[in-house]
Amino acid sequence: NKALRKAVIAGNWKMNKTRPEAKALIEELKPLVADAGCDVVICVPYTNLETALELTKGTNIGVGAENCHWAKSGAFTGEISADMLAEMGVQYVVIGHSERRQYFGETDVTVNKRVRAALDAGLTVILCVGELLEQREQGVTEEIVGMQTKIALQGVSEKELKKIIIAYEPVWAIGTGKTATADQADEVNGCIRGVIAKLYGKAAADAVTVQYGGSMNAGNAEELLNKEHVDGGLIGGASLKAPDFAAIVKAAS
Ligand code: PGA
Repeated sequence: NKALRKAVIAGNWKMNKTRPEAKALIEELKPLVADAGCDVVICVPYTNLETALELTKGTNIGVGAENCHWAKSGAFTGEISADMLAEMGVQYVVIGHSERRQYFGETDVTVNKRVRAALDAGLTVILCVGELLEQREQGVTEEIVGMQTKIALQGVSEKELKKIIIAYEPVWAIGTGKTATADQADEVNGCIRGVIAKLYGKAAADAVTVQYGGSMNAGNAEELLNKEHVDGGLIGGASLKAPDFAAIVKAAS
């Protein structure tokens, strides 16, 4: 079944890299991932999108943004719409990252609105879900992640689901160096696939890409990516160094 799905390794640069730094990183990365056997994406700050699009033209590297607003346009000072991204040639957008949920008031409802806007603009969504440490300790991981997934996908059709990648990112594993074990990742990713099966049927669930994210690196990627339900990764820290990111791409290929 894993063979039916596309593995996607996506870098999430977060708020890192000036324009010259971005240029250097992409130039270093290009040859290292040129023969990748999986999809390769870099999600970069808005200020680096134009640089990333230019430098990756004609390569196998896709470009994404790290968020988008839900309105098409209007009085939303400081925001960027999905249409603005699509018009530039951006193909992917991260939505619902736990840092947005923690620091910027993102809720399941606003995540759903942003998913809707991104799909309407023709973007592929990397939808992030994940539990807090205390939720895992309380034994409600499945319920939390299931609810986040279900609400985020409200109003999304089976056809549109093909443009959705789900990233399971336990909040306690992000940027902490504390990776979920391969079995923990596989278990929750499998639950997410179960939620998709209930909402859209088995064929859709078998086809949907579910990534793991949270301190994935060159050393632990292979074990995680070998699991049945782990179809790629959303990579923060390790995406900022070309050899590290390329090693993860290789592990997924
Ligand atoms: P990390 O971040 O790899 O640095 O833990 C992952 C993410 O937040 O997407």
